[in-house]
Amino acid sequence: MNVIRVVVVGYGGMGSWHCDRIRSMEKFELAGVWDINPAKLKNAREDGIFTYGSFEEVLADESVRLLVIATWNDVHEPLCIEAMRHGKNVISEKPVSMSLSDLDETIAVAKETGRLFTVHQNRRWDDDYLTMKNIRDKNLLGKVFRIESRVQGSRGIPGDWRREKGHGGGMVLDWGVHLLDQALTMNDQNLLESVFAHVTHVTNDECDDGFYCELLFKDGLRYYVEVTTNNFITLPRWYILGENGSAVIEDWDLSGKMTLVHNWDKIDSVPVKAGTGITKTMAPRTDETIHDEPLELVRGKWEQYYDNIYDVLEHGAQQTVTWRQMRRCLKLIEAVFASAESGSVIRFDEDA
Ligand code: NAD
Repeated sequence: MNVIRVVVVGYGGMGSWHCDRIRSMEKFELAGVWDINPAKLKNAREDGIFTYGSFEEVLADESVRLLVIATWNDVHEPLCIEAMRHGKNVISEKPVSMSLSDLDETIAVAKETGRLFTVHQNRRWDDDYLTMKNIRDKNLLGKVFRIESRVQGSRGIPGDWRREKGHGGGMVLDWGVHLLDQALTMNDQNLLESVFAHVTHVTNDECDDGFYCELLFKDGLRYYVEVTTNNFITLPRWYILGENGSAVIEDWDLSGKMTLVHNWDKIDSVPVKAGTGITKTMAPRTDETIHDEPLELVRGKWEQYYDNIYDVLEHGAQQTVTWRQMRRCLKLIEAVFASAESGSVIRFDEDA
């Protein structure tokens, strides 16, 4: 078996995470790291990792076939381009680029050089996402007409480059890119028709500290995405509504349930008191018409991401996170900002 030598560029939180994973995989060998911050290089050496003296030195190391770019967001694109021009294959951390036109330039270089170029959309392997996707794919609730996907923090934007526009800060580009990629991947063949979004600046004027976004797909599915950083009471991570039932995933621990209707037509109810009045419409269903079921948990195998990278490089396989998907996600991010700025619904052009 050929072992692929990898350099991780950027030895911060995510760069060191990649290093740990790469060191645990037989198919890959960590050649070393490069970071512009000498303190980070020192950390790497203390962790027993070889450090390069410059990015040029990394590019000149012919034993290295793959670079993982885990730097601030604004330099993903130039580093990926330079790496490919020097014959290296690249995985970029998310978001892959700051704009669709930047991404198109990088894809052009990938085509020209014949190098692997992809982005680390690791949250496609998250258990909570796969569990929700499975409910939809298997029609466990009947036709799904609404999905709500939320992550909610209470500490604002972490106090570093994520607060600065120049470095590609803000929550749309941070968590948003994950949740929007999940929405699109769950609807890979379902055309996205429109986007309506609102970004927030509760704790940060320069960059968005959260956003709310409603996506409408061709089959009628309305998919709601929310990323916030100023919530002291949180709503469930996932909420999904189908014609015959609802499901919820409360949190990362995958607590939750499905509630299914097995006698839809038995809708008689006794009015219940509601505020200053009574209601039949909103009275809870009686026990004999609905029942709860545990969630059918799907466990993600994130290692498949790097397995695929290996298969692309060694056996000419198709990359899992494709250029089409990368473009679609970045186009959606641009539509989110455009909608927020104009206050209007943006028609999504899948062909652009
Ligand atoms: P970080 O600040 O902890 O680390 C970034 C590092 O990049 C710093 O050490 C910095 O000195 C270095 N750097 C900046 N510019 C550089 C350059 N030109 N050359 C070399 N090194 C450079 O940030 P982080 O939280 O590790 O995030 C890094 C990237 O990983 C971001 O793009 C972020 O969006 C992504 N990320 C992804 C996930 C995920 O789940 N996929 C999670 C967290 C972060």
